[in-house]
Amino acid sequence: MAEAVGNAIETGEHLAVQAGTGTGKSLAYLVPALRHAVAAHTTVVVSTATIALQQQLVNRDLPRLATALTEALGRRPTFAILKGRRNYLCLNRVHGNAPEEPEEALFDRSAASALEREVRRLREWASETDTGDRDELAPGVSERAWRQLSVSANECLGAHRCPVGADCFAERARGEAGRADVVVTNHALLAIDALDDRPVLPEHDVVVIDEAHDLVDRVTSAAGGELSASAVKQAARRCGRAVDEDVADRLNEAGEGLEFVLGESPVGKVDELSAELSAALAGVRDAAAACVTALGPEHREDAETGSVRKLALAPTQEVHDTAVRLLDAFDEPEGERRDVVWIGADGGRAPSLKVAPLGVGGLLRQRLFEQRTTVLTSATLALGGSFDTLAAQWGLPPQRSADPAPDTATGAEPPSEGAAPSWVGVDVGSPFDYPRSGILYVARHLPPPGRDGLPESYLDELAELVTAAGGRTLGLFSSMRAARQACDELRQRLSTPVLCQGEDSTSQLVESFAGDPRTSLFGTLSLWQGVDVPGESLQLVVMDRIPFPRPDDPLASARQRAISAHGGNGFITVAGTHAALLLAQGAGRLLRSSADRGVVAVLDPRLATARYAGFLRASLPPFWNTYDPQVVRGALRRLDAAASER
Ligand code: SF4
Repeated sequence: MAEAVGNAIETGEHLAVQAGTGTGKSLAYLVPALRHAVAAHTTVVVSTATIALQQQLVNRDLPRLATALTEALGRRPTFAILKGRRNYLCLNRVHGNAPEEPEEALFDRSAASALEREVRRLREWASETDTGDRDELAPGVSERAWRQLSVSANECLGAHRCPVGADCFAERARGEAGRADVVVTNHALLAIDALDDRPVLPEHDVVVIDEAHDLVDRVTSAAGGELSASAVKQAARRCGRAVDEDVADRLNEAGEGLEFVLGESPVGKVDELSAELSAALAGVRDAAAACVTALGPEHREDAETGSVRKLALAPTQEVHDTAVRLLDAFDEPEGERRDVVWIGADGGRAPSLKVAPLGVGGLLRQRLFEQRTTVLTSATLALGGSFDTLAAQWGLPPQRSADPAPDTATGAEPPSEGAAPSWVGVDVGSPFDYPRSGILYVARHLPPPGRDGLPESYLDELAELVTAAGGRTLGLFSSMRAARQACDELRQRLSTPVLCQGEDSTSQLVESFAGDPRTSLFGTLSLWQGVDVPGESLQLVVMDRIPFPRPDDPLASARQRAISAHGGNGFITVAGTHAALLLAQGAGRLLRSSADRGVVAVLDPRLATARYAGFLRASLPPFWNTYDPQVVRGALRRLDAAASER
């Protein structure tokens, strides 16, 4: 892998590397990245999807490598971590130069005093922390509290105008990143850097994207937008301190108009704008434009007035631009639209309008692959045995049929201008002996999953499996409802403890699960990817159903329809890819070290019987397969007995 990465950097040919758990993939890209950065006096950007991996790179891998490579490189290589501005405390707000946020009144007195306590704690922390980085604050604070003392990039005064700009945490992090050989960042900031005309990352010619299976989702989020009535009213409140009351009131009224129309509209994909929604959006657009005009251009002003103006301008401009984008989305006939619009009401929140690009391949190709050499890596990139499915989503052409191994001796020509970006895919395998270490059990005898929760036969099967394993189970469910149902039922049937996601912080639950082999942990999406528990506490991973996107997921269904309309297989390309990635990630929780043994059990019989089963199974590690419940329970009992003896 290190040779392939070195070759990509040398030739400019993009590289996709699938590298299983335990390969040492971060070392395999960091060594050539550091060598290139030092030799070419440049910066290499490494982007990750999760905070856990960022911390592993910055706290473990890079410090060790810097020491190990000092002699070979002629100096100690340097590295830094860089996140979006919102992730750092803003000292201008901490010191009160920017006035407190005019929040919506908190009627609940205990919620108001909890917020006050959190903000006070943040102010104290500001004088202790060296970085101001939210991820270093333990325990964390609510989003509402954090927003009181942080700013977005657009709300920042700019270091030259800010009275505390010289001490600013975000500016310091940017300065360090600009001088570092390797900068570790996240996919969201990478996407903003690629999409925005103002660069936020240091100049770089090579980028390594780890956890690349998540890239499309993160870029889609970064390139999407949301408009809610509360965002409009919040912008109006901020404007109320900086412009004529009448102008700000108009924006507030437009927010109320939007609130009314959204409350009357059905949740889900919006195929055509109703006259009411269109009028409400136009009202928001025009009122926001009037506020932006009234706020006027930037001029010489003291820090407080400047902060008030900036804090009003940024959200008002955003509200305006999103309203324009939502209206424009319907200019084209339905089959040719680039943006998908829907009304969402997540987690019981008030409904809001959301917009996201139908695809991000074009953006990635133009703003990433045509600009710099890119190495994409993950334990899961080859879906159904091929890199092409994900490559298509990244905007890359299918892999060349004659796929020569990377050849450092001859070196390929760098891609010519205008040509489709050239890339190679390499699967470096895994050090684990999957067929000997793990069993894939599909409960083929069960009925297909229904809509109304877990059927009784699923709960029976689950109870028998967990009993055979003696606990030690990670239950990955396709919905929180199913996880809770399984938890409630199994607590009555089992003698071993079951933890359920949401009962404590996820990190605390994972710690308790890892600390007691008899304990099981049930949960949903964040556990599919975030659990790393080697050893005897995790010998059984159970998934209740194939994790297809929900049929009413507006973006997935729009993407599916668009691909089918162009003659492709929309179901496999969108829903199948989504499910294959999650299945592989979920199954990947089982073996975390070469001594680990265990079972991945999928209760959904469609993984054995459906026509797409082959594609999904080809995306999983090569476990030994069985459909026989007796065989799998016997294996789990033996593993339990062996672990108990040790
Ligand atoms: S430069 Fe921006 S982020 Fe930094 S303290 Fe000033 S306003 Fe806050």
